[in-house]
Amino acid sequence: MTRVFSGVKPTGHLTLGNYLGAMRRWAAVDQHEADALFCVVDLHALTVEHDPARVRRLSRQAATLLLASGLDPEVCTVFVQSHVDEHARLSYVLECVATDGEMRRMIQYKEKAAREQRRGGSVRLSLLTYPVLMAADILAYGAGEVPVGDDQRQHVELARDIAVRFNQRYGHTFVVPRATRPEVAARVMNLQDPMSKMGKSDDVGPGIVYLLDEPDVVRKKVMRAVTDSGSEVVYDREERPGLANLLEILAACSGGSPQELAGAYRSYGDLKKDAAEAVVEVLRPVQERHKELCADPGYVERVLRDGAERARGMARPTVDAAYRAIGL
Ligand code: ADP
Repeated sequence: MTRVFSGVKPTGHLTLGNYLGAMRRWAAVDQHEADALFCVVDLHALTVEHDPARVRRLSRQAATLLLASGLDPEVCTVFVQSHVDEHARLSYVLECVATDGEMRRMIQYKEKAAREQRRGGSVRLSLLTYPVLMAADILAYGAGEVPVGDDQRQHVELARDIAVRFNQRYGHTFVVPRATRPEVAARVMNLQDPMSKMGKSDDVGPGIVYLLDEPDVVRKKVMRAVTDSGSEVVYDREERPGLANLLEILAACSGGSPQELAGAYRSYGDLKKDAAEAVVEVLRPVQERHKELCADPGYVERVLRDGAERARGMARPTVDAAYRAIGL
């Protein structure tokens, strides 16, 4: 059975982008078709300016939302990255295989480093080495597939390169992973700025739909989405990015393809109304389950403890083998 690994960073409240681009498929497909692990990657949340108490709170919330989105701890493994030492242990060894040139080429590094500098802050070294830790997350478990949105593809490619290089130099140790992506909504864009992705780490904004937004808040955000001044509904990602984003969100929530849906609408207003309702409906069961889980914090605690124990058992043999192979 293929091993699958993926995760979310607790750097902010989870968004519709996280859900449509990743989480929904983890629950609907991956956990059933593979031996799957899903992780709240809290070490990654320390790569940018952070508040310790907030990271802890967001980690718990992300784990609760993973369960609320339908991950079943009887079927897959749900855990928090920092509960399993093997990630950091392997990361160091992989730093001895990766190069700084590779790290500096990462698009996300360039974007985030520029953002930190604009804010007047300094860039943490861990922001540069973040993709190595992510490679360790994946390689420690021998994951063959990594279901992610488009924004993470470059990092999975890097994990692949590192695995191949390590295996060539030190003997076969790692499974070489590949990224898999959803058919629609692999890159949900900010509703107010359709040229940038809907990212949870961005400042709270009217262009980001959060998984825990109340229905009326969702409606308001979608109805106010930026489109263009045209009137004909067509699907064109390059020329009409705002409209394309709404069509993709609607397609992802209610089925059909963005192209087909474009033909069914005569006005932007009708499209926005339907997209808003579709998002509200998709989020409803997740929000209901989230509420139930919040009423039973001991359950989430137990799931995470068991998950970490299982994950540790899976990662340790591979990480030990990597230590031996590299000469330790
Ligand atoms: P974020 O950018 O929100 O911090 P994470 O790095 O925690 O996201 O990613 C969690 C998962 O959600 C990844 O698989 C990522 O590819 C996916 N994802 C994040 N944002 C989007 C988006 N706007 N559209 C589609 N998928 C996304």
